[in-house]
Amino acid sequence: MEYDVVVIGAGPVGGFLAQRMCEEGVSVLLLEEHAQIGRPFQCAGLVNPEAMSLAGLESTVLTQIWGARIHSPSGIPVEIGNEQDVRTWSVCRKLFDEGVVKGAVNAGADLWLSSKPISADANEDHVQLSISTPQGDQTISCKLLCGADGAHSWVRRRFKMGRPKELMIGFQVEVTGYKGEPGRLDMYTGSKFSPGFFAWAIPSGETTRIGTWSKPELMGDESCELLLDRLRKEPLWSERFSDCQEVGRFCGPIPSGLVKRPMIGRVALFGDAAGLCKPTTGGGIGPGFKQVEMLVPNLLKCLKRNDFSDAAVKQVIGLLNPIRREQNRARALRDAFLTEMTDEELDNVFSIWSRPEVTELINQIGDIEQPIPLGIRMLKEVPEFRAIAKRAAKAVLWG
Ligand SMILES: Cc1cc2nc3c(=O)[nH]c(=O)nc-3n(C[C@H](O)[C@H](O)[C@H](O)COP(=O)(O)OP(=O)(O)OC[C@H]3O[C@@H](n4cnc5c(N)ncnc54)[C@H](O)[C@@H]3O)c2cc1C
Repeated sequence: MEYDVVVIGAGPVGGFLAQRMCEEGVSVLLLEEHAQIGRPFQCAGLVNPEAMSLAGLESTVLTQIWGARIHSPSGIPVEIGNEQDVRTWSVCRKLFDEGVVKGAVNAGADLWLSSKPISADANEDHVQLSISTPQGDQTISCKLLCGADGAHSWVRRRFKMGRPKELMIGFQVEVTGYKGEPGRLDMYTGSKFSPGFFAWAIPSGETTRIGTWSKPELMGDESCELLLDRLRKEPLWSERFSDCQEVGRFCGPIPSGLVKRPMIGRVALFGDAAGLCKPTTGGGIGPGFKQVEMLVPNLLKCLKRNDFSDAAVKQVIGLLNPIRREQNRARALRDAFLTEMTDEELDNVFSIWSRPEVTELINQIGDIEQPIPLGIRMLKEVPEFRAIAKRAAKAVLWG
């Protein structure tokens, strides 16, 4: 059997990639190791406006998110956003993933469930795959193999394409009864709950997703469960959690930092497999969709000419340089403003953020998806941030 493209992994990024390729007349086989789409998932379910407009899956939205209450380690709150300005969407991830993959199938992709590669060999003019399926092993040949197979990507390991720069770990419970504000998410900082990062409570229709993320090396001997438990018992806000009933639990890796070799010859990586999650939010759907939009036109040219020479591949990889640069800058900002700060320093930052003129600046140009413009303005304009500027400026401006 022959296909132009085989995509391993029918998550949101693999599904969107398959759809975009099929729409351009390319034959695509989409493989998913699980028996159903969208299960299991590990996600807080936030989909940014760009990704939502590309997917056109507004029907999967559970809550429109227009604002945030951010808390310092000692409980200083900063409230941002206004109700008229929806910033992001909280979706049902199962329905979202199903919708994206349905889009691929409607566009002409073949979808094989409960199927995964056993071996793959890249030759000069094709990639030969052996695939385990419920009907037995199958041999497939394709011109291009795409790994959209998540954080622990088999394709990435098989072809030795490097590792994401950082691997965070996220843990989340889904609860009923959280006392939040409709349309507003809560973020909690502090080494007790989320060393170097933040914890969250995100409204998602009838339920709320409460989670935390951090890097294993910052967590010492403590588990994510323990950190989240501590958050829920913290006297400053334990009342908000007092009626919570748990209905689900999720834990998963968050790979961030584009791998060294995102494409080698006829093999390319997408989404989490490539290390595309944002260092600031952990969001991976938006960056994965953006990568698909950036690369598909060039990959189509390669397919049409059947040209996957070093020069052609270099051109495709070159398109990802802005993503690499943006990730590096965002990570530097995150480190300066959050990850490398002590709880005391964070409290000081929050007391500045909570000043009306600074909160106004955040409301005007703040966007957690695009933190660089706000970060640079703050480093320039808020005198108290000059000390941090020394730490951050070099990496942020030139990183
Ligand atoms: C706790 C937590 C909260 C998060 N919250 C958000 C959020 O709010 N917003 C956001 O944008 N992102 C969030 N993320 C990140 C987000 O979940 C991922 O970035 C996103 O799912 C990446 O999509 P993907 O298609 O690249 O990979 P995945 O969603 O991981 O999909 C990969 C698919 O490949 C399949 N697969 C894997 N290996 C094989 C194989 N060998 N053969 C066949 N199939 C295979 C898997 O079963 C899966 O279906 C969160 C992550 C965590 C852990």
